[in-house]
Amino acid sequence: MAGIDAEACTYCGVDDEEPPSTTVQLLPSRVPSRFSRPKRPSVIAERDIFAPGAPLGRTPRSTFQTRAFRKAFYPGVPDREWNDWHWQARNRLRNLAQLEQVLVLSEDERAALSESGAMLPASVTPYYMSLVSRDDRSQPLRRTVIPTRAELDRGRGEADDPLGEDGDSPVPGLVHRYPDRVLLLVTDFCSSYCRYCTRSRMVGHGRVNPNEARLEQAFEYIRRTPMIRDVLISGGDPLALSDERLDWILSQLRGIPHVEMLRIGTKMPAVLPQRITPELCRMLRKHHPLFMSLHFLHPDECTPESMQACTRLADAGIPLGSQTVLLAGVNDDVETMKRLMHRLLMMRVRPYYLYQCDPISGSAHFRTPVSKGLEIIEGLRGHTSGYGVPNYVIDAPGGGGKIPLQPNYVVGRDGDDLLLRNFRGNTYRYPDPV
Ligand code: SF4
Repeated sequence: MAGIDAEACTYCGVDDEEPPSTTVQLLPSRVPSRFSRPKRPSVIAERDIFAPGAPLGRTPRSTFQTRAFRKAFYPGVPDREWNDWHWQARNRLRNLAQLEQVLVLSEDERAALSESGAMLPASVTPYYMSLVSRDDRSQPLRRTVIPTRAELDRGRGEADDPLGEDGDSPVPGLVHRYPDRVLLLVTDFCSSYCRYCTRSRMVGHGRVNPNEARLEQAFEYIRRTPMIRDVLISGGDPLALSDERLDWILSQLRGIPHVEMLRIGTKMPAVLPQRITPELCRMLRKHHPLFMSLHFLHPDECTPESMQACTRLADAGIPLGSQTVLLAGVNDDVETMKRLMHRLLMMRVRPYYLYQCDPISGSAHFRTPVSKGLEIIEGLRGHTSGYGVPNYVIDAPGGGGKIPLQPNYVVGRDGDDLLLRNFRGNTYRYPDPV
């Protein structure tokens, strides 16, 4: 079964453990009927996650789906290993042979996994795979991690680097677009690869390394550019690095007097929540003010494990915001999005950005019309807590940056009155002399 590769050994901190002498064996031949036909609905219920007053121990409870998946495919793996992020990273499912042991693959998925040409490799942690439907290829989470042949088609307006990040890079792996902040790419490794990733052109290819020589160039650029007060550390997934390497990066940045705040963008609480250990949180809290943007897509990602990860981060004093990409057939309806936003709030994550899907090559099957995003924001604003309404933005192709989009609530003017529409569609006058 999947052993950790050299790429991950170097970058994700698993080098501080020896790989297991025997590789994990899946049991694909006889899948218990209980797993293939779950007795419970596939949607994860609130009561499975948020039992009021339930203490969050070191090992969280799992959902029925995860327990059934483990029993079916990893029966010999003890909790100690399953809950170890190094084990999860080492045992990622990464190719056709591994994926067809746990999924009933469609012809299209099988072809996409066999043919080369997709920009992004496939990779899914065993934990995240436990949330993926074995049979239903249209299941939202499955669509986001299992490639299809649609990725091989380049649609109108699509590009490998639609946001023009490469053109705004003064030194390798550093993007300086907005005046007072920079994006620092520390690694191109992620434990699971999202099929709509904006950085598909580089992620998973082993070219962006957290080596000191490259990062020193980036630190030096930031040192001699005093206008930079905010550094967003991203990738790939920065939390794929070991605690020690991440601590070194954060310390270097903290040592620059004009850097006021640090941010980390990560999908680990959704795809590998075991990464959020007490030791990691102890290290992170040394570097305040530190913010985190957590990538969540669908309410089914909000599991007890994710809840524990977010709770640990929040308890470490880290303000948490979410980033969600609007994806056709995944989260493009008001009810799904509302459920996601509610669950994020329950996990102490403030919904922050809802992104229109960037026009990266091979992403047309994921993109919705912009009117769909506006409809979703309209379905949230006024219909749920204001804290649960994210900012809907388009990252402008060619490097224009994030442009916010809002449904139009100003319906006109009548003399000195502004005419406004509320969330119910009723019109109101507001005195606004011209
Ligand atoms: S976690 Fe982020 S960087 Fe990694 S594949 Fe997904 S979208 Fe791309």
